Amino acid sequence: MRLVLLGPPGAGKGTQAVILSEKLGIPHISTGDLFRANIGEGTDLGKEAQEYIDAGKLVPTELTARMVKARLQEDDAKDGFLLDGFPRTVEQADILNGFLEEFGTKLDGVINYQVSEDVVVERMLGRGRADDNEDTIRTRLEVYRSETAPLIDYYGDQIINITAEGTVEDINARTLEALQH
Ligand code: AMP
Repeated sequence: MRLVLLGPPGAGKGTQAVILSEKLGIPHISTGDLFRANIGEGTDLGKEAQEYIDAGKLVPTELTARMVKARLQEDDAKDGFLLDGFPRTVEQADILNGFLEEFGTKLDGVINYQVSEDVVVERMLGRGRADDNEDTIRTRLEVYRSETAPLIDYYGDQIINITAEGTVEDINARTLEALQH
């Protein structure tokens, strides 16, 4: 299965992705995790991305898309993947379409985790990540609203809406149930 996960920062996409990835037997590809790994290893890509991430801004699309394409071409992603954090803009969604066309595949669905802003801020302040201070959180929410939320219309009837409130288990059960339809 080829899936994209959408939702505001702090919606719990990453947590759900880890569980879904295991249950569905497909790799979890998180652009945020890939960037953080590159930063940890001190790669050139990590160095280029860091200032944007620290400010809560989007890393330039060219750099991000190149990293995603390389990851999608790895063996384990040939038959399916769970994309978490990409695409984040309509421009990136067009680029992803281009990649999929080139690979001769298409998405099976786009899961949209819906959650109120209060819950999002609470969750982000609770996870203690380096880019989770209040200013950065505000910037990331603004970026989500202006750049990423339009993807819900973009993907239209491919969207599978899931309420991302309640326990991790509940949200996971809702997602698996929705994927069966
Ligand atoms: P995340 O772990 O998905 O919250 O991503 C953390 C940070 O990585 C974001 O705030 C952005 O700075 C950067 N990032 C992740 N995915 C993308 C993307 N698709 N395009 C641009 N920047 C991204």
